[in-house]
Amino acid sequence: PSSIERHSFDVLVVGAGGAGLRAAIAAHDAGAKVGLVCKSLLGKAHTVMAEGGIAAAMGNVWSDDNWQVHFRDTMRGGKMLNHWRMAQLHAQEAPDRVRELEEWGALFDRTPDGLISQRDFGGHRFARLAHVGDRTGLELIRTLQQRAVALGISVFMECTVTQLLKEGDRLSGAFGYWRESGRFVVFEAPSVVLATGGIGKSYKVTSNSWEYTGDGHALALDAGADLVNMEFVQFHPTGMVWPPSVNGILVTESVRGDGGVLRNNEGRRFMFDYIPEFFKAETADSEDEADRWYDDKANNRRPPELLPRDEVARAINAEVKAGRGSPHGGVFLDIASRRSPEYIQRRLPSMYHQFKELADVDITAGPMEVGPTCHYVMGGVAVDPDTGESGVTGLYAAGEVAGGMHGSNRLGGNSLSDLLVFGRRAGLNAAYAAARVRSAPAIADDDVRNAATAALAPFDGTGDENPYTVQHDLQDVMHKLVGIIRNADEMRDALDKLVELRERTTRMTVEGHRQYNPGWHLALDLPNMLQVSECIARAALERTESRGGHTRDDFPGTDDTWGSVNLLCHLDDDAVAVRRQPLPSMPDELRRLFDET
Ligand code: FAD
Repeated sequence: PSSIERHSFDVLVVGAGGAGLRAAIAAHDAGAKVGLVCKSLLGKAHTVMAEGGIAAAMGNVWSDDNWQVHFRDTMRGGKMLNHWRMAQLHAQEAPDRVRELEEWGALFDRTPDGLISQRDFGGHRFARLAHVGDRTGLELIRTLQQRAVALGISVFMECTVTQLLKEGDRLSGAFGYWRESGRFVVFEAPSVVLATGGIGKSYKVTSNSWEYTGDGHALALDAGADLVNMEFVQFHPTGMVWPPSVNGILVTESVRGDGGVLRNNEGRRFMFDYIPEFFKAETADSEDEADRWYDDKANNRRPPELLPRDEVARAINAEVKAGRGSPHGGVFLDIASRRSPEYIQRRLPSMYHQFKELADVDITAGPMEVGPTCHYVMGGVAVDPDTGESGVTGLYAAGEVAGGMHGSNRLGGNSLSDLLVFGRRAGLNAAYAAARVRSAPAIADDDVRNAATAALAPFDGTGDENPYTVQHDLQDVMHKLVGIIRNADEMRDALDKLVELRERTTRMTVEGHRQYNPGWHLALDLPNMLQVSECIARAALERTESRGGHTRDDFPGTDDTWGSVNLLCHLDDDAVAVRRQPLPSMPDELRRLFDET
């Protein structure tokens, strides 16, 4: 261990997406010495792919908008399972976080009056998403990254954390390897913020990038933290379905927000057939009213294409199953017949290029073919809503890796705002806590030695398994058996198969050396993916109802009893265990906001 590279910080942030960058800036501003580690190049985090915008009740387009309405929309979108305090802080603080980005140099699209423009998205009562065309994530990350670098925050790129280190019950640092050299590195830090993003690479069809292997979820679980709401995985209704090489790539919700409609192979706008009771009062029931809404929002109700994502994804799934799908197993998304080519190219430049280049489809001239794709995990590390601290002293989580904020279903645009609000809070509180620590917790040599041995284990394998085949089979299991529609038999089958897959990982052999070896890297990611997949399957089997991103065909209804229960996953002797916990109860002044409609 003495020969291993070492660095010492007050706060170590793992992940350099929106949440990690915002946390690092906040911790720095609070006086901490901050290190920022990321598995890919700085600027390449998932956040860069975000398209539609950042949800914040700024009231720039609709002056009636305010945090109470945003809070209410968010809770209803999550089918009331969100942690109320997180949803409250998020709605209250998001506008300031957007304005602050602008002060730091972000260039948002404008209203005719010169204010930050805001666009419509599903489940939001008012046009509320601050955006930069359909490339909002790029602008967000560019701004935060420039600021982090200008502040002199130490950045470790292409460096993957494989273990968190503890002294007794509290965090003491992290262990990782450089992707390029394969050499090890130890970070000493009394506060660690996890901002590692999501888990989508455990599914066959996903909008997520190679980085989304659930590392932070698994690291937290191993360190003794709880994961909450893991049964809730968001399948975005509109991913590309053709050609096969691009299956799953996201088609932003902005297409529908800007006027696009969904049709089946009979040309029918089928979403009118799928308006649930819960949203009837606020959804248009005729095409005429829905079309009028784009120009006169005060006097008309929203089109059903803009229902929350879980509703739209289920409807598409049902249409395809009933034989009314498009030629390649999706449905049609049509904006060409509803908006001019100039409008489409100005508002949706990335979508225009994406379809032209990847599918040879001109979206200004004809419809797109789209279908559900695994997009986001609502579940994540259970944290204190105000500070972002997990149950393990010194371990914080923010952004997609944290749970609770979005309940059973996230509204579009609410992730970018979540990253900013809770990234900042976690960074600040991690710094305050580090400042309170009298002597830095120690890292035991044995722990470092064990972490190194575990990281090198795949090279000692003698079996005939290849990490890529195991990953492929895992993705197939999750897609088929713990996907958008679930039932008990299939999930039990999935859990058996996960045991087999885990056993196969012990027989993996990795060829070659430690220098830039993707096979080895995947071999180290796989246990994380398996761990997280097991949490999803176990929690999903336990929750015998359908709600938000969790749909069971053996329990199709929403059950009020489950409406007040969270499921928490933790490790019990290395095995994933699930326990129930009552939902935190909402104060009356917030509860009253739901009586008004
Ligand atoms: P990320 O941005 O994913 O960053 C994770 C970081 O962790 C990366 O730097 C990664 O390298 C690092 N990391 C991971 N594991 C390790 C490890 N073991 N060691 C070291 N580093 C590690 N949301 C919206 O609100 N609005 C939108 O318009 C929108 N559009 C989207 C479009 C697409 C195509 C996709 C896929 C998502 C979209 N989302 C959108 C969701 C949103 O982009 C993500 O939820 C959000 O960016 C996650 O940010 P994050 O900071 O939590 O993680």
